[in-house]
Amino acid sequence: MPNDIPLRCKCGAVRGRFTDYRPERANRVTCYCDDCQAFARWLGRTDVLDAHGGSDIVQVAPASLVFDAGAEHLRCMQLGPKGPYRWYTACCKQPAGNTLARARSPFAGVVAGMVDVPAGSSLDALLGPSVGGVHGRFAVGGCPPGADAKISFGLLWRMARPLFKNWIGGRSLPSPFVRPDETLVSPSEVITREARAALYGR
Ligand SMILES: [Zn+2]
Ligand SMILES: [Zn+2]
Repeated sequence: MPNDIPLRCKCGAVRGRFTDYRPERANRVTCYCDDCQAFARWLGRTDVLDAHGGSDIVQVAPASLVFDAGAEHLRCMQLGPKGPYRWYTACCKQPAGNTLARARSPFAGVVAGMVDVPAGSSLDALLGPSVGGVHGRFAVGGCPPGADAKISFGLLWRMARPLFKNWIGGRSLPSPFVRPDETLVSPSEVITREARAALYGR
């Protein structure tokens, strides 16, 4: 029985799932980096961040991420021309998945707030625990206890394994963000340098 995990945006127009989810094939990590915080600010959705400015992110293979409804609301932005694709929903500005800035990404990082947790369950029960925190040097109020200031070699190694398996297993495609001809389902909007500067407050 495949373990599908339901997903939905805040307003419910976009619905999807992680297909056949297994914690050992995913990376659940809290990212405190200033880019993830800037993205939430750009969306007007700082409510997806924790008290330290962290984003609880679940990296899965793009082939394990499916949108069953509302996929036409998906949009793409980049904080800079070389930054990752940051997908969100046009309906309610829900972060919907980060990928490398290419059609074939070894992961899609979905903010855990998109998981539709059934009553009586929890994110930990559904997804397994977070493997740690990264880029804690950018956290609000200083690096939280237990988080890495940057990213430790141990955590990098732990996170590389599922990505490597996705890559050799050809699980970058199909992707909900990419058409069969490997163009994006919605073109990426790279924000201006000025807009970017305003988001970082520097
Ligand atoms: Zn929505
Ligand atoms: Zn980040």
